[in-house]
Amino acid sequence: MTSDMHGILPKSSLQRLLDVLSVRGYRIVGPMVRDGSVVWDTVRSVSDLPIGWRDQQEPGRYRLEQTDSQEVFGVVHGAQSLKQFVFAPREPLLQIERRKEGFTARPTLPQSEKVAIIGARACDLAGLTIQDRIFLNDAYRDPYYASRREGLFVIAVNCTRALSTCFCVSMETGPRARSGFDLALTEVDNQLLIEAGSEAGRDLLSNLSLSTSSEQLSVEAATRIEACAQSQVRRLDHSRLPQALYEVHEHPRWDEVAGRCLACTNCTMVCPTCFCHTVEETPDLSHQQTTHVRLWDSCFTQEHGYIHGKNIRPTIKDRYRMWLTHKLASWIDQFGTSGCVGCGRCITWCPVGIDLTEELPALLSPGIQSSTAKRQADGNSRRVEG
Ligand code: SF4
Ligand code: SF4
Repeated sequence: MTSDMHGILPKSSLQRLLDVLSVRGYRIVGPMVRDGSVVWDTVRSVSDLPIGWRDQQEPGRYRLEQTDSQEVFGVVHGAQSLKQFVFAPREPLLQIERRKEGFTARPTLPQSEKVAIIGARACDLAGLTIQDRIFLNDAYRDPYYASRREGLFVIAVNCTRALSTCFCVSMETGPRARSGFDLALTEVDNQLLIEAGSEAGRDLLSNLSLSTSSEQLSVEAATRIEACAQSQVRRLDHSRLPQALYEVHEHPRWDEVAGRCLACTNCTMVCPTCFCHTVEETPDLSHQQTTHVRLWDSCFTQEHGYIHGKNIRPTIKDRYRMWLTHKLASWIDQFGTSGCVGCGRCITWCPVGIDLTEELPALLSPGIQSSTAKRQADGNSRRVEG
C-alpha cells in the first residue's frame, strides 16, 4: 500500500472486500440484473454483480446486453440513484394514539442499519451531497434521513464508459468521483485500482493487505476516465443560469414540451436530487391509532400543486416549467448549486424521451423570442423611436 492509500485489488480477489465488509456488519448492496435493467439489491457474492453486462441508454430507451467481457462494472446505472437509501420512498414518521385527554405522538425512527453500497457513480455521489444539504445541513436536520445516512459506507466506481445520455462533464460532477465516497474503484482489465476517501475507507483498506499501486496502472486508469469524459455527446450549458431561464417564463417552447409531457412523474422519481414529498395518515379501523407517513411525491401531480382550495399549477405546462426552472435556476438561488448533476436518468426514463439538454437550449435560443422578451423589445424600440 502507498501512503496516500491507493492500492491494487486483483479482480479475482474482489470477494475479499465483500467478506471484510460482511465481517464488519455491513449489508452489501450492489447493482443486480432484474427485469431487463439493474436495481440495487443485497449482494452476497461477486457473482451477484452484473458481470459482462452493459447498458445502452437513449431518450426513452434502456437496454441491457450481455457481452463476453469479464467487466464487473460495465453497467453504468439503472433507474435508481442513491436517494432511496437515505430519503426512503415511504417513511413512517409518527405513531399517533388517541388518549382520554388528547393524543400522544411517538416518532418511529428507522432501525439503524450498516449498508455498504458498491458501484455508486460520481453523479450519484453529487446527488447524495445535494440531498445531504437539504436534509442534514439546512435549518432543520431530518432525523430519519440522518439515521439512514449514518450507516452508509459508499464504494464508488469511476466511470470509464459514458452513456449517450450522460452529461456529468458539463455539470462538473464526473466521471471521476472526487469526494463523498469511502472507497473508489477504477476497473482496469483484471485489476481494480482502489483509493480511500474517508477515515472509514482508510481503515478498511489497511485491513485488505493490498499490493502497492503502480504508476503505470494509475496513468492507465486516468487515461480511461479521461476518454470517458471526452466521449460524452450531451452537455448542458448553464453559464447563463439562473437568470436566463427566469427571463423565458412565457416562451412558446413551454407549450410545445407540455404537448408531449404525460405528467407521469418518472423524471422526478429517478432524479437523484428531487425531494418533493407528501404525508398521509393511515388510521387503524378503530380510529384509535394512526401512522403519519412521508411518501415521495412529484411536482408533476395535480395534488402537489393544490394549496388552500386552489391548484397553483393546474396545467402540465405549469408543472414542467416549474420542474425545469427549479432544477436549473431557482435551485441555485435556494441551495447555491444546480439541482441537476447530469446523470441523464430523466432523459432515459421519460416515456416520450423529453430531454432537458434539448429543452434548455431551445428555451434560451436567441432565434426564438419569448412573448415577454418580445414585448420588452417592442417597448424599448418604441421608446427609442419616440
Ligand atoms: S434532472 Fe435529470 S439529468 Fe439532472 S440529475 Fe435529475 S435525473 Fe439526472
Ligand atoms: S418523465 Fe417525461 S412525460 Fe413523464 S413527467 Fe417527466 S417529462 Fe413528463
